Amino acid sequence: MSKIRVLSDHVANQIAAGEVVERPASVAKELVENSIDAGASRIAIEIEGGGRRLLKVTDDGDGMVRDDALLAFERHATSKISRPEDLSAIATLGFRGEALASIASVARVELNTRTENDAAGTKVVIEGGRMRDVKDAAHPHGTTILVRDLFFNVPARRKFLRSEATETFHLTNLVTHYALAHPEIAFTLSLNGREAVRATPAKDLRERAYQIFGQDFLDNLLEVNGGYAEVARVRGYVSAPRDRRTSRDAQYLFVNGRFVRDRLIGRALSEGYRSILPHGVYPAALLFIETPLEEVDVNVHPAKTEVRFRRPAAVSDAVREAVRLSLASAGFVDGKTATIASGNAERISTELSDPPFSNMARPTASATAAAESLESDQPRSHAAPLRIEQSRMDFPVQEIPEERFVQDVQALAEATGALAIESVEILSGLAERKSAPLATTGESLNAEAASKSVLPPLASADKLVGEATIDSLTPNIRPIGQLEESFIVAIDDDGLLLIDQHVAHERILFDKYRALEAGRRTESQNLLAPETFDLTPAQTAVFELVATELENYGFDLMRLSGRTVAIKATPADLPPGEARNMLAEVLDAVDGEKRGLARETLRDEIAASLACHAAIKVNTPLAPEKMRWLIDRLLLTSSPTTCPHGRPVILRLATRDILKGFHRI
Ligand code: ADP
Ligand code: MG
Repeated sequence: MSKIRVLSDHVANQIAAGEVVERPASVAKELVENSIDAGASRIAIEIEGGGRRLLKVTDDGDGMVRDDALLAFERHATSKISRPEDLSAIATLGFRGEALASIASVARVELNTRTENDAAGTKVVIEGGRMRDVKDAAHPHGTTILVRDLFFNVPARRKFLRSEATETFHLTNLVTHYALAHPEIAFTLSLNGREAVRATPAKDLRERAYQIFGQDFLDNLLEVNGGYAEVARVRGYVSAPRDRRTSRDAQYLFVNGRFVRDRLIGRALSEGYRSILPHGVYPAALLFIETPLEEVDVNVHPAKTEVRFRRPAAVSDAVREAVRLSLASAGFVDGKTATIASGNAERISTELSDPPFSNMARPTASATAAAESLESDQPRSHAAPLRIEQSRMDFPVQEIPEERFVQDVQALAEATGALAIESVEILSGLAERKSAPLATTGESLNAEAASKSVLPPLASADKLVGEATIDSLTPNIRPIGQLEESFIVAIDDDGLLLIDQHVAHERILFDKYRALEAGRRTESQNLLAPETFDLTPAQTAVFELVATELENYGFDLMRLSGRTVAIKATPADLPPGEARNMLAEVLDAVDGEKRGLARETLRDEIAASLACHAAIKVNTPLAPEKMRWLIDRLLLTSSPTTCPHGRPVILRLATRDILKGFHRI
């Protein structure tokens, strides 16, 4: 007897739901995408019980005629594509035609909709995939979908839902993403009847980012505007190197208006910060990548959160260069190094030898508008604080939502008796948003991780004393002494300079190590008696990978039995007492997710670590000649104002400000 049978639509939908509907936020994602695809200018999202009890999305988009309202719930029913060719140039967010069918198979769904030309609207009720009711219903032009009791018929899935506070957190993130991608659409989000996000139509991304994150966040951002139209335009904002995080949570990446989790772009972004941010530390970013539609395949993942680029290397180059350029314009790296060599330009031009692409992506008029609006600014100055006072006047009601959200979460936690730890997670996540945007991805944030995920803020000196910019530096810097045996006090034609001796030396050494040709060893010093070093199991796993590189930098290491390593020689610059610390640091850094590090990046990592451990410490007296030497060498480096870990190297107090301070001008 044959055993194979074709599954009923009902079972097939539930299987698809397993991929499409992971949690309430994924339902919200599909519904909001549908509203955007329907051309809505206003989208309201209402949530009760973390989206388990109710998820309601109302839009003023095209709406549906009755036949479409019924068909919408069929599997593979879509109005967005029809021919196989359409798959190669998808201009809408949806196209698989399975979201509504999947959602309706695992919840109680009510759809109300009306098109502009129909007098009567339609109501459709479906529960667990079974049609319950279809009738006329009054509804304004547009669509409202209510999703109640998510997973009511799939107890196994229900168990995987996290607390109300956690699900609410993901929902808020989701709305934040779409609000950023579509500044021209008004978004509201209400949680158990209380408004958590209200974003009125904004004229551009900057204004929308202000509505959502507030002024502090914007103040610390640099504008990005680069890339190549044929491959990928790259626009948006990235953070200054001093704003450092230990996760990618503050990176909002969009491809043709679609919010994606893309490792390629994330990595290219980090490469842009090469030599000013170490590995394991990430910038914040709002990056919009626009490619010709044919250049990207969005049909990779049922939830459409991943994309595949036809020419990934070229996209990666475009992102890295655009970011680098932005950092260079803001004076964080030398403009000359902005166009990183290593044959990239060549690679781009060879890849471009294909026929040029005529139609650039117009994902939705709006996403492009979001990106284009970046161009409409006044004279572009990357370093200058973003000017939005004007918009503040135009949009007076914009309370920054996080405070309210925090209260909501607190109230929720109290009301629902949610585990205290859960609300702590969320609250610490939000506290982080003072300077960081919402944490995003689906990883669980435990309290410890949340508290670790941002490095201690590097309070930059305020107003009077500021970080010196590269342009303002001349060879005419004269050291006059040391403060606290840690900072060189110097003067130049513009005023007073304070140079952090440790980070200055770190920058010098880092550049020196990076300049060594691959394969040429740094000088070493032999230890009188070899030291031994015991590897942890995790370190053992990466030791071989790192050992050759470490040897290029002057280490002589010998693997003894098991997990013990003998250190026979160390780099000449490195005080012998520092060898073990450095070894442990490098091995730990390469551990875990970073095991797939490119060789180049690994070298950077080692160079940064070696520079740090070998550099002159604070609280070290320096002779005048040594200060002179440090300054001269520093000025020759690629980024005299930023150390390899992203910290400022030089602070300036301008004579003008001194005069002002003494009321002389
Ligand atoms: P897809 O978005 O992949 O086409 P869905 O299952 O999400 O598939 O939706 C099916 C169809 O229902 C869509 O193609 C669209 O025509 C229609 N639809 C869904 N939501 C809306 C809405 N909010 N407004 C207008 N039409 C909608
Ligand atoms: Mg859809």
